[in-house]
Amino acid sequence: MQTNFLIIGSGISGLNFALHAAKKGEVILVTKKKLIDSNTNYAQGGIAAVLDKHDSAKNHIADTLEAGEYHNNKKAVEFMVKNSTESIYRLIELGVSFTKENDKLKLTKEGGHNKRRIAYVGDYTGQEIEQILVKRVKEHLNITILENAFALNLIAKNKICYGAQIIRKNKIDNIFADQTIIATGGLGQIYENTTNPLIATGDGIAMASRIGAKTEDLEFIQFHPSALAKKTSPRFLISETVRGEGAHLINSKKERFMNNRHPLKELAPRNIVAREIFKEVKTGPVFLDITNKSEDYLKNRFPKIFEKLLKYGINMSKDLIPITPAAHYSCGGIKTDIYGRTNIKNLFAFGEVACTGVHGANRLASNSLLEALVFSNQIIKQLKTKKTLQVLTIDRPKISPINSKKTKFAKKMKKEIQKIMWKHAGIVRNLKEINSIAIPKIQKITTTLQKTQNTNQTIAEALNMAQASLIILSSATKRKNSLGCHTVS
Ligand SMILES: Cc1cc2nc3c(=O)[nH]c(=O)nc-3n(C[C@H](O)[C@H](O)[C@H](O)COP(=O)(O)OP(=O)(O)OC[C@H]3O[C@@H](n4cnc5c(N)ncnc54)[C@H](O)[C@@H]3O)c2cc1C
Repeated sequence: MQTNFLIIGSGISGLNFALHAAKKGEVILVTKKKLIDSNTNYAQGGIAAVLDKHDSAKNHIADTLEAGEYHNNKKAVEFMVKNSTESIYRLIELGVSFTKENDKLKLTKEGGHNKRRIAYVGDYTGQEIEQILVKRVKEHLNITILENAFALNLIAKNKICYGAQIIRKNKIDNIFADQTIIATGGLGQIYENTTNPLIATGDGIAMASRIGAKTEDLEFIQFHPSALAKKTSPRFLISETVRGEGAHLINSKKERFMNNRHPLKELAPRNIVAREIFKEVKTGPVFLDITNKSEDYLKNRFPKIFEKLLKYGINMSKDLIPITPAAHYSCGGIKTDIYGRTNIKNLFAFGEVACTGVHGANRLASNSLLEALVFSNQIIKQLKTKKTLQVLTIDRPKISPINSKKTKFAKKMKKEIQKIMWKHAGIVRNLKEINSIAIPKIQKITTTLQKTQNTNQTIAEALNMAQASLIILSSATKRKNSLGCHTVS
């Protein structure tokens, strides 16, 4: 197969870029599950932008830099904020119905924002954006959509990218493209506890680094303080706004432990709350308590959260909600300039997988959907379609059956990686232990998986998880002092 643009990933960045690219040439969009399977679909809170007359670009930039501990790329932050308002109006034009009051966008506030600047749709902003973008992409004749198509490797020679190898219907296809776009999202699944869905296995980071793409700031993994901690349920995120509406944090002794840990108590910055809960969960369970609010109020304010918790046997107006911190967002990624360019020719990266530098050492809440949108809007202006496509001869590895011994081994290794990363590269890191325990263990897993001759999605994901973990671990050891989301013990 040949195309002008090969886009890997169908979250906000991949879908939005596809709509622009389709105006310039042919697009193939591949995604490893269904189109809607993405981190984007899970976003609850909203999307930040300068939208209120009491706010300004200067304020939004200042808040972003403060949250990022001034480790941010200031030029990229200015670029993102300058283009923020236009990006929200583009979503509205495409059909996203943000919550309104008196015909005006209703804006909310989250931790770290000094002004109301977050546009939202109930507590399911990401789902609304994803569904609208999917609808628009499906309408476009220039876009070929390949679902259940797993990008295995990028095709590259001498630091030039020519496309990717895709596993689909149990065989491997080579797709050649003028421009290849990695929009594969996050890597939360390399941790035992994560708010990210199963697709987030760090494939983009691993694939790109295998062909020599540079990565940056991958030690800065943001942990969300409150994910549901029931044994039989996924780590469903309980939004910060639940604490904003008055929920207390209670430890196993039924003490409101944040009272003497920070002046803002439960509303202290995200990384501080996550660290304090992490300390508490070592000795017993931690709960969110919002039983001070009525069932009617909670159903109306948090419809999705209420419904989801009920599904897991928790009525949040009557029961305590067991929680744990969980890996949530990767602030770093494949190093790009503000035009999405990587150091590999014809290879671009947008969204969570990329590191434009906007988040610095710690992402400001609701800036990630914005980053994904702004950069995938702007870059297309720089890209031209060529007339000729180069085709290389590429070996196709053999597929391993899904119930093979090798696949079972890969599944086991995924769990092993998650445990090692949670223990050694989680909320608090001991650099000596990373060097002496975590790196050798993950290196051993990587070597074993690399020796596995036949492949399939599970085996490839396990290898990607191991390789992405190694980059995180080695970045962590290079940063000797705590900064932002990187806390050294
Ligand atoms: C629970 C939760 C709540 C959040 N809330 C907010 C919020 O309120 N505001 C905010 O700004 N941000 C929020 N975030 C973060 C935000 O949702 C993500 O950063 C953003 O959606 C990432 O978009 P993306 O397009 O980069 O990637 P994603 O939306 O993750 O999409 C990645 C796509 O790549 C595909 N893919 C991955 N690997 C491969 C492969 N090898 N082959 C083929 N396809 C592949 C996936 O299947 C998926 O379609 C939240 C995240 C989570 C998990």
